[in-house]
This record gives sequence, C-alpha cells and structure tokens, in this order.
Amino acid sequence: MNSRPNAFSQWPDAQGRFGDYGGRFVAETLMPNILRLEKAYEAAKSDPEFKAELDEFARDFVGRPSPLYFAERLTEEFGGADIWFKRDELNHTGAHKINNCLGQVLLAKRMGATRIIAETGAGQHGVATATVAARFGLPCIVYMGATDIERQKPNVFRMKLLGAEVVPVTSGTGTLKDAMNEALRDWVTHVKDTFYVIGTVAGPHPYPAMVRDFQSVIGREARAQMLDRIGKLPDAAVACIGGGSNAMGLFHPFLEDESVRLIGVEAAGKGIETGEHAASLNGGEPGILHGNRTYLLQDADGQIIDAHSISAGLDYPGIGPEHAFLHDAGRAEYLSATDEEALEMFQLCAKLEGIIPALEPAHALARVRDLASELGKGKTILMNMCGRGDKDVFAVAEHLGVGL
Ligand SMILES: *Cc1c(COP(=O)(O)O)cnc(C)c1O
Repeated sequence: MNSRPNAFSQWPDAQGRFGDYGGRFVAETLMPNILRLEKAYEAAKSDPEFKAELDEFARDFVGRPSPLYFAERLTEEFGGADIWFKRDELNHTGAHKINNCLGQVLLAKRMGATRIIAETGAGQHGVATATVAARFGLPCIVYMGATDIERQKPNVFRMKLLGAEVVPVTSGTGTLKDAMNEALRDWVTHVKDTFYVIGTVAGPHPYPAMVRDFQSVIGREARAQMLDRIGKLPDAAVACIGGGSNAMGLFHPFLEDESVRLIGVEAAGKGIETGEHAASLNGGEPGILHGNRTYLLQDADGQIIDAHSISAGLDYPGIGPEHAFLHDAGRAEYLSATDEEALEMFQLCAKLEGIIPALEPAHALARVRDLASELGKGKTILMNMCGRGDKDVFAVAEHLGVGL
C-alpha cells in the first residue's frame, strides 16, 4: 500500500508525506474540504485548458517568463564562480508569491468558490492574493495578526485598495501563526463556498505539493534559460527560505540533476545562538504546525515561538515539509545568514548591479558570496532574486540610522 517514490521529484507519497514529514494533521471537520481540494487539483493539473489559462495570465498579468541575468559586477567583486540571477523580482507585485496565488485563485474559480481567504504575516502574501482576487472579481478576506497590522501599515492599505477585507487576529501574539489558525477556522465553517489560498509550501496535503508545483515555473524557466545561455546546468542553485516556496520552486526541476547542489538560506536573525532567528531547520525541532509535520521553532513545552528576522517575509516559524525531507536525505543543504549580512548584501547589490533586492534574497546573496570563492572560477551559481527591495527601503534606512 505504502509505495515509496523512488525519485526525489516524485514525492509526496499518496498520503501527502515526504518521508517522515508533511501529511494531514487537521480536525476531522476540515477533511471534506481538503479531499475536495485534492481531487480538484489532481483534475486541474492534467487539464490542458487549466494549463492554458494559467500560462496566459502568467504571461500577460504577471510578466513571465522572468529574465535570467548575468550579475557580472558581483561576480567580479566576489572573485570566483559566475553568478546568475533568476529575475523573479520583476513579476507584477514585485516577488514570486503571485505565481502561486494565480494558480490557486484559478483553481478556486474552477471549483466554483465565491469567497477567497488567506493569512498573511508581513502582508506580502495578502497583497498578492488580493491582487489576483481583484482581477477575477472574487471577494477576499485576509487574516492578519493585530501586531503585524500595526507593523505593516503600507501593505494593509494596499490590500484595502485592492478591495480586500483585512481581519485583525488578536489571539496569541497577534502574528502569523495566529492568523493561520484563524484562516483554518474560517475554512471549517465555510465548507462549500470558500477557497483558502496558502502562501508557502506548508499546510496540510495537498498544499505543499500544489504550491511547489505552481512555483516550479521558476526552476523550469531557469533550467531551460541556463541551458540556452551557457549550454550547461549551474553547479549550484541558491534561494532564501521563509516557508520555502521560492526555494522549492527553484529546486524542484533540478532534483534529479545530481551535479546541481541545492542550497537554501534561512534567516539567522541576530545569530542562531541568540535564539532570535527564523532558522527552523538549523535551529528548530520536528513538530506539527499548520496541518503538517516539519521542523519548527518551539520551546521546551512544544509552544511555537515567534521567529525573528530583519526581513518580515522570512519570519515564518516553520519550513515546508519537503525541505525537511530533502535536508534529512542530504539532497539539499541548508545554511543561514544574519540580519547584518543581509543588510550588507542589500547595499552591495544595489551599488554593483543596479538592483535593489528585497531583504529576503539578500540573505541568499550572503551565502552566494562564500560559495563563489569555494567553487571558484569557471563554475556557475544560479540564485533566485525572488523579490525587489522597494518595500524594504524604510526598514533599511532605519537600521542604518539614516532618517528618511
Ligand atoms: C514571502 C517572501 C519570501 C519567503 O517565502 P518563501 O515561501 O520562503 O519563498 C521570500 N522572499 C520574498 C521576496 C517574499 O516576499
């Protein structure tokens, strides 16, 4: 019964498990929704009409394919391997998140949903969901921790402009994990008409696999673009990790290419040893959150701890179960970068490449720097530039002690 896939790219198994991780740890009352979603997604996946519609909006609304770019001056600066960026920061709304929101909202439409719900921490996923919901005329309710609403006013205003309703969540610490619980509760009580758009490769099966599939457009394009431009695959593919969706989207099409090292970079915050970080794999333990089993930040009693990172998009207290699996299997490596390193790379990339990166991929760039010297000249590194830094300029100015 429990046949184990024999290739990395074929997971999860029929139960939605990635080895010891993933699965469906949800209330019995949620199962009908989840089974309906799984069935609908399975059907949509192999329907050419669904794929044609997804491709059309990815092209005309999101702006895909995103370019592949040789970061010549950073390559010179780091003095080793050639560095290439996959430019997903050029997408509509400025990051990779819309790839997934577009897929899920099109699926919602196909399932006849009349109401879209989502949870958001920093507000980026809320904005991307509200953007696509607006395009298709669907009412959108975004659950957001009250603390986060206070911290992320511009994104709250964006969501409202886009016609979404932002519902403050005051339970717990009023942050992302509380908003996720509230969204799951909403979904249980609106079985028939509501579609829950999850923003990363987390949640109960089929979400981790479905979000990965929608984000895999990043890796599929990049793989073909590398072959086209330099006639070979990169030696390493690197991405930052919050929940892990842009990294999983980059990695998945390379999973069977043994020569390609896959490297995820978590947020080490003020340093993993300080406890103030968001590095679930490097500084967490397996447990259950948001309907799946994975590595989490939790205290001795198993309570989820709020993550810390200079980058609001990385402070998710868990990581997608597929990463936990690839970590344990040794197929992908997981490193980390601190707030300080991200700040340094943010400025360096702006000055040398004329690209202001989001603070999230600035973490990845810190490890690209080491890797460039380690691999040396003649080797190639592909990094996902998953978001642009416009949203971060105020936070960075504050950290640098510059008034704006
Ligand atoms: C949300 C976000 C992330 C973190 O999410 P993943 O699921 O790990 O990709 C990273 N970068 C940017 C720009 C984001 O907006």
